[in-house]
Amino acid sequence: MEENMFLSTQRVIKEALAKLGYGEEMYELLKEPLRVLTVRIPVRMDDGTVKVFTGYRAQHSDAVGPTKGGIRFHPDVTEEEVKALSMWMTIKAGIVGLPYGGGKGGIVCDPRNMSMGELERLSRGYVRAISQIVGPSKDIPAPDVFTNSQIMAWMMDEYSRIREFDSPGFITGKPLVLGGSQGREKATALGVTICIEEAAKKAGIELRDARVIIQGFGNAGSFLAKFLHEAGARVIGISDAYGALYDPNGLDIPYLLDRRDSFGTVTTLFENVITNQELLEKECDILVPAAVANQITRDNAANIRAKIVVEAANGPTTLEATKILTERGVLLVPDVLASAGGVTVSYFEWVQNNQGYYWTEEEVVEKLKEKLTSAFHRVYELAESRRVDMRMAAYMIGLRQTAEAARYRGWV
Ligand code: GLU
Repeated sequence: MEENMFLSTQRVIKEALAKLGYGEEMYELLKEPLRVLTVRIPVRMDDGTVKVFTGYRAQHSDAVGPTKGGIRFHPDVTEEEVKALSMWMTIKAGIVGLPYGGGKGGIVCDPRNMSMGELERLSRGYVRAISQIVGPSKDIPAPDVFTNSQIMAWMMDEYSRIREFDSPGFITGKPLVLGGSQGREKATALGVTICIEEAAKKAGIELRDARVIIQGFGNAGSFLAKFLHEAGARVIGISDAYGALYDPNGLDIPYLLDRRDSFGTVTTLFENVITNQELLEKECDILVPAAVANQITRDNAANIRAKIVVEAANGPTTLEATKILTERGVLLVPDVLASAGGVTVSYFEWVQNNQGYYWTEEEVVEKLKEKLTSAFHRVYELAESRRVDMRMAAYMIGLRQTAEAARYRGWV
């Protein structure tokens, strides 16, 4: 059995803190979230019955500032997963230098089988249940797997009603008319693209004509396919939860983008479908897991035939697989760096909400590029100088800001 992601996160945190020269007490402070709230949310379904959903909100560390991170709606959500995800958010914020600690939320549900009315009641019920521990200067949620700007809008409205105060800064990823930021929707994919460009330079790969495989066609995967296609790369494989499409000559990305549904499903329209696992093992220059966790494991790591793996999803590669890929000379850009574009533009959204003044898309994109390019180089250079893989270097940089803040506060 491969280690679960919570335990493996603890293992990397322990090693990263030791490499930074911090002792056991710092590890004790950061080895799990400060707070995890479990809530039960009764929802009146359209058929008149009541269903009770389980939700979580985990807050890893508030040493630097308020906690921040998305909310996912997925049948596989567990407390352990939400805890690990909140820890990764601390690392992401630290890598980019955002004034936050990590948070994460989740509800065990399948939004693909729910009506808009049911989703609205569930979203509002969740906010009522967690309202005591969240807020614009406390813990700021955002979209994640299967949540979007409409859900953020309902949540912001519910929170504002509870507080009796318009509170756009309570949540990010909102629609533009409700204080959303230009560029937020494509931000994760833009961040991944920046990391791909920098990694390609390091690996001597020309992005034009490079063969790319993207696993997952949700928010990150679909925008990424669009950007890479526009940059002249050859996207030879994409997938969704039901299967994968592969064509060594390149897929018709504009057509696929046009036909995908709001959950990123598109392969169900085709007959020549292979499995996600088959897709991951196809030869390519750049492989981007942009779906869910635990996709590249010790069982298939030796079969991955990509020169660069850039993690757009959270936790797609296990620690054992990271080791196997690194030993085989594959350049792996870890999730905590590659997927940090989303939270970076969320930060910009929150800053704009706080100042009540809004930026143009060009300004947002330029600021994102500046932050992620320098984050990439900081991580890459530390990995070189300390002779560690990029995941370890990312954790070292990501944890440093929280550890220093905790020390200045006199906690450790
Ligand atoms: N859910 C995204 C992530 O995992 C974005 C979080 C945010 O914007 O706060 O990074």
